[in-house]
Amino acid sequence: YKEIPDGYPQPGKHVVYDESELIDLDNVPLNGGLLLKILVLSIDPYLRNRMRDPSVRGFLPAFEIGKPLQNGGVAQVLRSEDPKYTAGTYVAGSYPFQKYLVAQASEVNGLRPVQKKGKLTLSAHVGVAGMPGATAYTGWKEYAKPKAGEVVFVTTGAGCVGAIVIQLAKADGLKVIGSAGSDAKVEYMKSMGADVVFNYKKTKVEDVLKKEGPIDIFWDNVGGEALDAALANCNKHARFIECGMMSVYNGDNAYQMKNLNYIYQFEIQLHGFIILSLIPKYPEFYTEFANRIASGEIKYNEDITVGLENGGAALETIQRGNNTGKSVIAVADY
Ligand code: NDP
Repeated sequence: YKEIPDGYPQPGKHVVYDESELIDLDNVPLNGGLLLKILVLSIDPYLRNRMRDPSVRGFLPAFEIGKPLQNGGVAQVLRSEDPKYTAGTYVAGSYPFQKYLVAQASEVNGLRPVQKKGKLTLSAHVGVAGMPGATAYTGWKEYAKPKAGEVVFVTTGAGCVGAIVIQLAKADGLKVIGSAGSDAKVEYMKSMGADVVFNYKKTKVEDVLKKEGPIDIFWDNVGGEALDAALANCNKHARFIECGMMSVYNGDNAYQMKNLNYIYQFEIQLHGFIILSLIPKYPEFYTEFANRIASGEIKYNEDITVGLENGGAALETIQRGNNTGKSVIAVADY
């Protein structure tokens, strides 16, 4: 991590690929710990939030200039002096953006063994079966309070979180309206079961919600204009699940909200949440939901960037909305 971006993060400028630090894989001392080969790293929208001025408040600390970025990943244990982990085991955890890691198991946040099973690939453990999947699953369980026949509007419906929300909402018998930023993404939302789909770059959210609403639940991944339109086109006591605000992550705060007054007029229940707070409440996510993914009941797609040296490009791609599906870096073959 080289420089704080003031707009979109650019590879080569704000993040750089650097091979100056090498380790001797056969002889590096483990001191009772593990030598991990990192296979997959996740690229998530919130990474941009951590690339900020450290004096600005945020839900996680700002990244430190000069150190690797850090995020969820899957690794394989190459060597182990820890009796709990044998060589060959796959482990998910929070890893620095590098190819190998020597660490004590206790130093890796969220370290847990993972396996491939049916349609559940290793990389899915950082996506549909990992942090973003848990976000959709737990946020929906906690706040949606769905009743069959109600109407939900899901933004970034072709992304990892959004596509799962669409599937959960359909399973609960709702009418689902989904928005996304390209025609291919619109087709993907349709294949996930959404009833009404549109490209928000071509059709105004307001027009669609006027025709297909009012809505009872809003799953908000973008904020801004979509949130404003949802506020003006919802039923009394609508549930607004404030999951993310993609439209402001890269410095563009130009949109002026007009409809905030409907929050009290329609007695809207507005729930902001961070997955770290919800996941302890829903441990079955890692078993029951993982089984539904393995069986193919819950569908997902991935946008795989090959090579850690291309990680900076993947970081920019997701912020610009040019990813199709869960963005991951294949650091090594898996
Ligand atoms: P996605 O794969 O959905 O990628 C982000 C998408 O956001 C892009 O593909 C793009 O889709 C859309 N986007 C980008 N810029 C804009 C913009 N200016 N206006 C509107 N949409 C934009 O990522 P995830 O599924 O991983 O994450 C989706 C959301 O969930 C994000 O807001 C993220 O921050 C949030 N999140 C929240 C968590 C929590 O704990 N609260 C945890 C995990 C994720 P399109 O082409 O459709 O515009």
